[in-house]
Amino acid sequence: MAKIFVVANQKGGVGKTTTTVNLAAALARHGRRALLVDLDPQGNATMGSGIDKRTLQRSVYQVLIGMSDVVEATQWSEGGRYAVLPANRELAGAEVELVDFEERETRLKDALAQVDAQYDFVLIDCPPSLSLLTLNGFCAAHGVIIPMQCEYFALEGLSDLVNTIKKVHANFNTALQIIGLLRVMYDPRVTLAQQVSAQLEQHFGDKVFRTIIPRNVRLAEAPSYGLPGLVFDPYSKGARAYLDFGAELIDRVRSLDEAQRTARHAAEAREQ
Ligand code: ATP
Ligand code: MG
Repeated sequence: MAKIFVVANQKGGVGKTTTTVNLAAALARHGRRALLVDLDPQGNATMGSGIDKRTLQRSVYQVLIGMSDVVEATQWSEGGRYAVLPANRELAGAEVELVDFEERETRLKDALAQVDAQYDFVLIDCPPSLSLLTLNGFCAAHGVIIPMQCEYFALEGLSDLVNTIKKVHANFNTALQIIGLLRVMYDPRVTLAQQVSAQLEQHFGDKVFRTIIPRNVRLAEAPSYGLPGLVFDPYSKGARAYLDFGAELIDRVRSLDEAQRTARHAAEAREQ
């Protein structure tokens, strides 16, 4: 069964797409079968995976409105070694068109059921909003990964995001949990970055991933070559950090699964 994670933060430009693309490449490097779902009409994750968003025959848009299944619309990222369900600006129309559909929040979840056995991980890149598209991501996922820049306004939007996740958990998807907060674009020379980073650890404890992604220009250059940074310059600091993050996530998933199993056994034992 695939673990489905959504990479979300309604703030723009905080490193969602960079994280999704490089995490997919990292998981592939660690021998896992990964599918990246681009749920943003900007199509940055699509382009950053080396797939031209301007020439798509099918995309996640057709999947959401029921005109294609996931297998038909999926392409392969040669550089990244992972599968991609791509997007382009057509997807912006889905926001409006889906309003007339029944169960419009779970369109993506239902579609992904088809490929559940085919992948170890599905990673969903969200647009910078708490829109119906992001809601489809939340309803489809087991967990949320929140990339954050350690700056003054970073914490401001976090409570809105956490409240939205709580509402989705209560109303649509009881499996949904926050897997962790990932510090990205980190510059250790900036005192404020150190302070915010320490605050995050204080507030969120082990919900903060140990791995920190540094600010690294190679990660920013890679998309223009249609490659994840991890492939573009594997020895760069940024690439190594995302490779470590992939390993940390695999570990975290394993311990979450074990904790769930233990809880289930305890509940069964109580019933007997
Ligand atoms: P949007 O909200 O528009 O979807 P996003 O949250 O997906 O944005 P990205 O596109 O991943 O954010 O990153 C924003 C910009 O910052 C991009 O130009 C990207 O190349 C750059 N960037 C991301 N992470 C890093 C990093 N660790 N070091 C340097 N530059 C980075
Ligand atoms: Mg993005």
